[in-house]
Amino acid sequence: MAGKRALVRVDYNVPLDAGRVADATRIEASLPTLRWLLERGSRPVLLSHLGRPGGRPNPAFSLSPAASVLSDLLGADVLFAAPCDGEDALGASRELAAGQVLLVENTRFLPGETANDAALARRLARLGDFFVNDAFGTLHRAHASTTGVPACLSPSAAGLLVERELEALGGLDRPRRPFIVAFGGAKIGDKIDLMRRFVERADLILVGGAMANTFLRARGVETGVSLVEDGALDLARSILSAGEQRIRLPIDVTVLDRSDGDGETVEVVAVDGIEPAMAALDIGPETRARYAEALRGCAAFFWNGPMGLFEDPRFAAGTFAIAEAAAEATAAGGFTVIGGGDSAAAVRRAGLLDRVSHVCTGGGAALAYLSSGRLPGLDVLAHRRHP
Ligand code: ADP
Ligand code: MG
Repeated sequence: MAGKRALVRVDYNVPLDAGRVADATRIEASLPTLRWLLERGSRPVLLSHLGRPGGRPNPAFSLSPAASVLSDLLGADVLFAAPCDGEDALGASRELAAGQVLLVENTRFLPGETANDAALARRLARLGDFFVNDAFGTLHRAHASTTGVPACLSPSAAGLLVERELEALGGLDRPRRPFIVAFGGAKIGDKIDLMRRFVERADLILVGGAMANTFLRARGVETGVSLVEDGALDLARSILSAGEQRIRLPIDVTVLDRSDGDGETVEVVAVDGIEPAMAALDIGPETRARYAEALRGCAAFFWNGPMGLFEDPRFAAGTFAIAEAAAEATAAGGFTVIGGGDSAAAVRRAGLLDRVSHVCTGGGAALAYLSSGRLPGLDVLAHRRHP
C-alpha cells in the first residue's frame, strides 16, 4: 500500500451554513479509514458529493469548506482540486506527498455522476491506484463515484466505517428475541418495503409520528388536520392486515388545536377524540408509557422515524421517551440500532447517542440494506466481506 494512491469515496454530504461546515459528524466518521491508510503510507484522494447541485458547478455546494475541517481533524495537509475529473486533480493526485490528502470537488457538479456515466467513472478512476468505498450513506445509489469507479479500478474494498455499519445492521438479520421495531417519522411511502419486511420478522411493531396518523386514517379514524399520506392509505391497510396482532398504534396523541379562533392550544386526546381542527403531532402519555413498557423486555430493537414533531419541544416527549427506553434496554443487555437521519438527530438531542448500540450514519442506505439485504455500492466491490 505504501506510496499508492487510495481513491476513497467518502460521504461528506455535510450541512453548510454560509459557506462553513455546520456539522462535521460525517467528516469525523471518515477519520478511522483515512488514518489507517496514512499509517500504511498510502496517499488518499477523496471523492464525495454534496447536496443536489443538479449536475452543474454551483459554489453554494462546493466541497472546499470540508478540506480545512478535515485538515484540522486529521492534523494533515489537505489539498483541494476542481473539477473532480480534470487534469489539475489528476496532476495533484500524482504529486501528492506522503502524509498529504487530496479532496476533489463535488462529484455532482457533473451530470455523469448520478447518470453513472462510464466515461466519467474511468476519468475518476485515474485518480487512484486502488479504490475504497467508505461512504456508507451512498451505498444504495448506483452512481459513477460509487459503482462506476470500482467497476474499472481494482482492487476495490469497503472502508472501516462501512464495515462497522454493516456489522451493526447484520446483527438485525437473525435478531435475538423478542425483537421490537418502532416506526415513526413522516414518509411512509419511502419506508413501505422496510415495514413489510419487519412486520414479518419482528415480534412487535410500535408505530408513532405522522406515520401513525396514516395508519389511523386507514382504519377510518378521524385525524383532523394531522399530516397524513393519502397516497399510502392502501399500503397502510395491507400492512395492517398482514400484522394486525403485532402492530401497535397510539391510543392517545398530543395535538395542536386551532379551533379556538384566537390562538392554538396543546392538549392530549384519545385517538377517537381528534377533532377536525386538531393536528396530532406526538404520541400521548399513555402511549409513551405503553411503548416504553414494551421495550423493557426487548433483546433487539430497531428504530426508524421520530414519534412526533420533536423539533418543537412541545411535541418531543414521545420521541425522547422512546430514546430513553432504548438506552435502558441497551443497559439491560439489549442490542439497539437507530436508523434514519432525523431519528439520529433526535437521539443526539436527547443526549443518548452513546447509550444505544449503534446509530447509522446513512439513513437511506441503512433502510435499503435492511429492506433488501443488498446495496449496489457494496455488491460491486471486488474484495468485500461476505456477511
Ligand atoms: P428519519 O429521517 O429518521 O428517517 P423521517 O425523515 O421519515 O425520519 O421523518 C422525520 C420527520 O417527521 C421529523 O422532521 C418530524 O418532525 C416529522 N414528524 C414526526 N411525527 C410527525 C407528526 N405527527 N406530524 C408532523 N411531522 C411529524
Ligand atoms: Mg429524514
